[in-house]
Amino acid sequence: MKIYTIEAGVFGTNTYLVGDEETGKAVLLDPDGSGKQILKLVEQNGFALEAILLTHGHFDHIGAVDELVSLTGVPVYISERDAELLTDGRKNASSVFFGKSILCQTVPQTFKNKDMLTFGNLSFSVMLTPGHTRGSVCFFLDDDIVFTGDTFFAEGYGRTDLYGGNENTIISSLQNLVPRMRGKTVYPGHGEPVTL
Ligand SMILES: [Zn+2]
Repeated sequence: MKIYTIEAGVFGTNTYLVGDEETGKAVLLDPDGSGKQILKLVEQNGFALEAILLTHGHFDHIGAVDELVSLTGVPVYISERDAELLTDGRKNASSVFFGKSILCQTVPQTFKNKDMLTFGNLSFSVMLTPGHTRGSVCFFLDDDIVFTGDTFFAEGYGRTDLYGGNENTIISSLQNLVPRMRGKTVYPGHGEPVTL
C-alpha cells in the first residue's frame, strides 16, 4: 500500500492518494486543486481510481471532486451529516472566504459512524468526529494509519467558528479519537503527517 500527498489550493489542503499495488485499486481523499493533475499522479503510478472519500464538506477539501468525477465517473463518499455542505457556499465556507461559492454538484453516497468502505484490499473504517463540522470524520486504514481531515493536526485542531462547528463537541471528539490513534501514523488535512 502506498500513500501520496498532493498539497493544493489556497489553504494547502492535503489531497491523499492511497493505492494498493496488489489490486491496482486506488482511492483519493479530499481532492482539491486540479483534477487533471491529480489524475495524472494516479495514472503515472499505474493505479485505477475507485472512489473519492471526503473527511468533511468544506470547500477546500472538495474543489477537484466534480472535475475528477467528470473525468472518471467514480463515486464520491461523504458523511450523511455533511452532504448538505457540498451544494451550499455558505455552509461549506467558500462564500465566507471568497464571496463566491465553490460547490460540488456530484450527488454523493453517504456513510455514517462505524461504516466500513472497502475497495479491493483497502478498507476504511469511519469514525464520526464532529466539532469542526457536524459530519467530520476520521478514516482508519489497516492497523496503523488514520486520516483526520481538519479534526486533528500535528499542532492542534481545526477551527470551530464556521457553520456547524462547536468547540465543546470537537474537544469531546478528540478525547475519543486521540487514544485510538496511539502508535499510528496520522495524515491530517493540512500540514505534515505525524506518528503518535
Ligand atoms: Zn475544514
